[in-house]
Amino acid sequence: MNNHRFLGLSSSFLYKGSTTFASLRLCGIFLLFALSALAQIPQPKDVLGFTPGDDRKLASWAQTLDYFKKLDAASDRVQVTEIGNTTMGVPMIYATISSPENLKNLEKYKGVNAKLADPRTFKSNDVEAKKLVAEGKTIVLITCGVHSDEVGGELSSFLIAYRLASSSDADVKKILDNTIILLVPSLNPDGVDIVKNWYDKTLGTPYEGTDPPQLYNKYVGHDDNRDWYAFTQIETQLVVDKIHNVWHPQIVHDIHQQGEYGSRLFLPPYMQPVEPNVPKQIVEGYTELGNYIAADLRKQGFQGITTDSTYDAWTPSRAYSHYHGGVRILSETASCKLASPITVKFDELRPGEHYDPRKEAANFGPVWQGGEWHIGDITRYMTTAAFSLLRNAADNREKWLTRFYEIGKEAVRPRRNGELFGFVLDYSYKNERLKEILERGGLEITETMDGDLVKMAQPYGYFAKTLLERQAYPNLKDSAGNPIPPYDVTAHTLTLLHDADLKTVKVPYRYRIPNGSGISNDPGPCGKIDEKSAIYKSYVPSMDEGWTRFVFEKELVCSRYFSLPNREIISSPNLNLRFRAIIFPDQSPNSILNGFPKGAMPDEYTGGVGKEGVENLKKFVEAGGTLVFLNRASDFAIDQFNLPIRDVTRGLARKDFYIPGSILRTELDLSSPIAKGMPKESIAWFEGSPAFEILPATPVAMGGTIGVPYSQPNASTDNVHVIARYPSDPKQILLSGWALGAEKIAGKAALVQVNMGKGKIILFGFRPQYRGQSLATFPLLFNAIAN
Ligand SMILES: [Zn+2]
Repeated sequence: MNNHRFLGLSSSFLYKGSTTFASLRLCGIFLLFALSALAQIPQPKDVLGFTPGDDRKLASWAQTLDYFKKLDAASDRVQVTEIGNTTMGVPMIYATISSPENLKNLEKYKGVNAKLADPRTFKSNDVEAKKLVAEGKTIVLITCGVHSDEVGGELSSFLIAYRLASSSDADVKKILDNTIILLVPSLNPDGVDIVKNWYDKTLGTPYEGTDPPQLYNKYVGHDDNRDWYAFTQIETQLVVDKIHNVWHPQIVHDIHQQGEYGSRLFLPPYMQPVEPNVPKQIVEGYTELGNYIAADLRKQGFQGITTDSTYDAWTPSRAYSHYHGGVRILSETASCKLASPITVKFDELRPGEHYDPRKEAANFGPVWQGGEWHIGDITRYMTTAAFSLLRNAADNREKWLTRFYEIGKEAVRPRRNGELFGFVLDYSYKNERLKEILERGGLEITETMDGDLVKMAQPYGYFAKTLLERQAYPNLKDSAGNPIPPYDVTAHTLTLLHDADLKTVKVPYRYRIPNGSGISNDPGPCGKIDEKSAIYKSYVPSMDEGWTRFVFEKELVCSRYFSLPNREIISSPNLNLRFRAIIFPDQSPNSILNGFPKGAMPDEYTGGVGKEGVENLKKFVEAGGTLVFLNRASDFAIDQFNLPIRDVTRGLARKDFYIPGSILRTELDLSSPIAKGMPKESIAWFEGSPAFEILPATPVAMGGTIGVPYSQPNASTDNVHVIARYPSDPKQILLSGWALGAEKIAGKAALVQVNMGKGKIILFGFRPQYRGQSLATFPLLFNAIAN
C-alpha cells in the first residue's frame, strides 16, 4: 500500500510508474489484481540478487529495509511501519499484511480487539462480545530473528511477505480476509549485520559458518530473548509498546532455530512445567495449534517433527503473550552453519529432553534419516509452518477471538471473599522501577493511602502476580533420579530482585485514595565510581559481560568504564597505572584463561589471558588494584591466585546439588564497606554458581605441591573477609525457584574479599547484576569497585 509513513520514502519507490497503474485500472479490478500480483510485486531476488534460502547467502539489514519498503510501495496488502531505532541506531520495522479492504479499516479492527482484550469496556455481556467476535479479525504477530545467528527466520520473513503480497491462491485470500498479520523481519536488526559481516568475512575460509567472536546484540547477545518481562532493552520496549500493547495479538509465532543434531522442527505443546499463572485457555490454544501445524506438515511429507519436548512454558521472560491473552507458537528448526550446508549422519542424531530423534514416538516423527541440511531446508520448514499457522488462524477466526475474550473475562472478574485482591507496593524510590515495568506490561496501578495498589481484577493481573510472587519450581526428576533441567531459569520474582516492599491483600480489602502521593526522594543506587574501572572482554562472547556494560551505562551515569581485551592484559605489566578496578563478568575459568583454541577461529581471536596475563593481574592487585570476579569467574581467581578458598560446589553430582537459576537468601556483614547501604538480609541470583569455604591459614599440601596463598609471605585467614553468606539452616536458603541439595551451601560464603599486597580480590559467588534485573544487589557491585 502506498502510504508514505516511511521515513525518507522517496518517489523512487514508485519506480513502477503511476502511468502503469492508471492504464491497468481501466482493465478492471480482476486484471489489476492478477497483473499487480504477477508483475508489480517485487520478488526478494529483485532486491537481494538471490532468493532467501539459497546456499551461502545472507541479507543485510539495509537490504531488508529496502525490500520491505518496495513491497509497501508496490502492494495494497502490505503496510510497513517504523517503530523506532535500535540500540545501535538503525530503524526497526514491522509489516502489517492483510486484505486491501482490511487495511483500510485498521483502526476499526484495532478497536474491536482492544475491547475484547478488556471486557470491562463494554456493558457486561456475552451478547456484545459475540458481536465483536463476528466483526473482528484474528491478529497474528510473527517475529523473526531475535537470535541473529538463527538466520533462517529473517530470511523467511521475505518469503512469507512475498507470498502473502503476491499470491492469488484461495487459501492466501482467506488468510488475508480473516487475519491481520504483523510481521517483524527481525527483533534484533543490529545482529543481522553483525552476523552477516562476520559470515561474509569468513566465507571460503576454514572459519566459514562459525558464530562471530562478539555478542550479536550490543549488550545482551542471546539473552535478548530473556527480556520480555523486565523490558531492559530498547528492542523489547519498542515491540511491547508499539506492537503487543497496541494490537494484543491472539497468536504470536516466534521463529527460532535449534542445534543441528536433534529434531528438524519443534512445535508446541511445551513440555512441563507450565508456569501456574498461564491461563488454561492459553495452554489449550498452543496445544491445539501446535498439534495442528505438526499434523499438517507431516501430511505434506515433512520429517523429524517433535512436540511436547525440550522447551517448557515456565518463564515469562520469553512469553509476554502468555500473560496478555495470546498463545506463543515457538518454532525451533534445526540449524546448519549459518547459511552453509552441513551433512548430518543418522547416528550423529542425539536425544533431547523427552524425545529421541532416532525413534518414532507419540510426540516425534516421522524419523529423519539424516543427510544434507541446507539453509533452504530451514526456510522451507519455517515458511510452511507459518502458512499452516495462518490457515488455522483464518479458518478458526471466531474461535480464536472467543478464546481471547474468555481469557480477558476471567481476568477482570471481581474477586470473591478470601481470594487474592491484589498487591500493595510501598511508596519508595526503590519501588519506582518495578512500577515502570508493571505499567509497561499493561497493568493499572491505583494510588492509595497504603501505597500503590495493583489489583488482580484487570486484564493482565496474572502478569503482575507472576512477577511479584515467589516461584516454587516443581522437583522434576527423570527415571534415574536426576533433576530435569529447566529450559531457562526457575525464578523471576522481581519483588526480590528489586528488594521491593510489597504486601499481598485479600478480599475484602478497603483502601482510600490520597490527595497527594507520598513518594520519597531517596537517591538511586548510584555509587561513587571513578573513571578508572575496566570490564574484561573475551572473544568468547559472554552475555554477562554485556549485561555488566549495560548496567554500568544505565545506572552509573556519573561513570565511565573501559573494555579490557586479552591482549591488553597480556601486554600491560602496569595495569594499576590505568585502572583502579577490573571486573571479570561470569565466564568459565577455562575460557578466560585459554579463550578459543588455535584453529577454531582466525588467529587474532584465539587465546585467553594466559599465564602472562595472570602474572600482570597479580601485579595489579599487589600494587593496590581491585579485581572483582563474578559467579563462575571466581573459580578462575581461586585457581590462578591460589586463594585459601574452596568452591564447595565443585565436583558435586547434579542429582545431589542443583540450583539452575534461583533466588537465594543471604546474610550480610554490614561492617564491610562493600555492604554499605544494604539491608542485613539480601538475595543472590544463583545460576551455575560457586559457594565458598575459607581454608585454614596454613598452606595445605595439595596434589604433592604446596599451595602458597598469595605472593606475600604471611598469608592468613585474617586476609579473608566474608561479606555475605547463606543461612546455616538449609530451609532458609531458597526464596524463589528451585534448590536441590541446598544443605551443601548452608552457612557457606557467597561474597568474599581477599586482601593481597596493597590491593584486594573480591569474589561474588552469584550474579549481582543479573540480566539488569537484580537491583537489590547492584549496590554490592558498585561498592566493590568504589571502595
Ligand atoms: Zn533462538
